[in-house]
Amino acid sequence: MTKQYEVLFSREQLAARVAELGAELRRDYAGKTPLVLGVLKGAVFFFADLLRAAELPCKIGFLTASSYLHSTESSGEVTVKMPNADEIRGQDVILVEDILDTGNTLYKLTRLLREQGANSVKTIVLLDKPDRRTADFSADYVGFTIPDAFVVGYGLDFDEQYRYLPDVVVLPQDTGK
Ligand code: 5GP
Repeated sequence: MTKQYEVLFSREQLAARVAELGAELRRDYAGKTPLVLGVLKGAVFFFADLLRAAELPCKIGFLTASSYLHSTESSGEVTVKMPNADEIRGQDVILVEDILDTGNTLYKLTRLLREQGANSVKTIVLLDKPDRRTADFSADYVGFTIPDAFVVGYGLDFDEQYRYLPDVVVLPQDTGK
């Protein structure tokens, strides 16, 4: 199905790494019931696979953070919608994000969650592009570290396209990147 694209991580590689990350969460959060928050929309496939792999008693929720406006470059401004403070206060929050790029999004989200009274805040990202970091931020759990390429699939989009692809692939050149 995705043969015409340059596959960076196949569905098998993704499943194997997600299983390892799930086992890490299960071990690190044993005896706790964390609040796992997925960042919409890009993290939804990773979020669902990760939580099934972790088999960890938890609560779930979602938030939105948008900084990309029909482009592959971050605007720097991050608009956030998140659960109410009373859902966050006292919780051990695990924030699940698709990709860490400049770091602006997760820097802002983790700060907001702490301000809302979370007991602890950890972040887990499927992909990390450290070469592009501008914010002073690193994730607690990382699936794969990747070079500076714009990737899509497994929930990640370009202008709302490609999310459905089961593999993580490099954005095809003819899409304007
Ligand atoms: P940051 O705030 O760290 O610069 O950006 C994080 C967000 O930028 C991610 O949640 C994602 O929406 C978007 N992003 C960054 N790099 C990529 C990429 O290579 N592919 C896609 N599809 N989105 C990306």
